[in-house]
Amino acid sequence: MSVILSDISKSYDRVSALDRISFSAESGELFGVIGPDGAGKSTLFRIIASLLVPDKGTCRVSGYDVVTGYREIRRMIGYMPGRFSLYMDLTVEENLAFYARVFGTTIRANFDLVREVYSQIEPFRKRLAGKLSGGMKQKLALSCALIHRPRLLILDEPTTGVDAVSRREFWELLGRIRQEGITILVSTPYMDEAVLCDRVAMIHRGNLLDITAPEELKEYNYPLYSLRSKRGAYAYLDKIRNLEGCRSAWLFGDELHVTISSTDEVEGICREVSRWADASLVWKPIPAGIEDRFIELMQ
Ligand code: ADP
Repeated sequence: MSVILSDISKSYDRVSALDRISFSAESGELFGVIGPDGAGKSTLFRIIASLLVPDKGTCRVSGYDVVTGYREIRRMIGYMPGRFSLYMDLTVEENLAFYARVFGTTIRANFDLVREVYSQIEPFRKRLAGKLSGGMKQKLALSCALIHRPRLLILDEPTTGVDAVSRREFWELLGRIRQEGITILVSTPYMDEAVLCDRVAMIHRGNLLDITAPEELKEYNYPLYSLRSKRGAYAYLDKIRNLEGCRSAWLFGDELHVTISSTDEVEGICREVSRWADASLVWKPIPAGIEDRFIELMQ
C-alpha cells in the first residue's frame, strides 16, 4: 500500500509545521521519518492518517485522497500516535476487544497477526492499561493498531520513553510485521533505529532535507571531534570556529562537536586545541549521530 505526498503544507495559526513536503513510500516498505522535536513529524503522520486536513498539496494512500477518501483510508490503516492511544481505565483485553470491534472484527479473526506481540502481555490481560509499564503499554498499543489487519501501519515515535530491551524487541517485531506485506511508516529520534528502515526521510522545521538509504545515514564525510571541559565547552566555541580548517562547531548539551574540513587539517587543529587545553579538557574523535548529519545538511 503506497503513500504519495505532493507539496503538502500545513500551518497552525502562524506556525508553519510543514512546508511543501513531497515523497512517496512504496508498498511493503519500512519507511522512517526522523527529525528533532517540532520538526513536523506528528503533523505529517496525522495528515497521512486522514486526521488532519493539509492547507495545500495532496496526499494519496493506496490511491485514495486523504480528504475525499478518508473513509476508505481509515479502514486500511493502523495508527499509533505518539501519546498512547489506550483507554487507561480499560483492561488489556478490553482495549484490544474495543479496537477490534470498532473495525467490525474480532480478536480471534486476526489473532495470528498480533499473537507474537500480544502473547507478551497476555499474562496481564486483566490488568488496567493505566497500570502497565511503558514497554507493555507500547506492546498493547501496537496490538490495538494491528488487530484489524491494516495494510499501512503509522507509528509516531513508538519507542520514545521505552527501555532499550523493549526498543530492540519492538523493532524485531516490526521486521516480522513487514514480512506480512504491511507498509510501515515510523518516526524515531534514534539513529540505531533509523538505520533499520529501508529508507529514511529527514525533516527539520517542516522541510524535507533529504531521503537516504540507511547506509548513507552512517556516512559522514568529515573528521568529527568532541570537546568537553569542566570550564564549560562553550568557552571554546568561538576560538574553535575561528581556527582554519574548522568546518563547523556546535554545542550539543555540554560538549562541542567540531567538524574538520579535511583529514589534512586534523593535526593542525588538534595541536591548537592542546595548546589551550585546561587540565579537564577532553578532545577526541567521535562517530557522527543524527544531529551531526542534520547540521551538515543544513550548512
Ligand atoms: P514533531 O512531531 O516533529 O515534534 P509536530 O508536528 O508536533 O512536530 O509540530 C510541528 C510544529 O507545529 C511545532 O512548531 C509545533 O509547536 C507546532 N504545532 C503542532 N501542533 C500544534 C497545534 N495543535 N497548535 C499549534 N501549533 C502546533
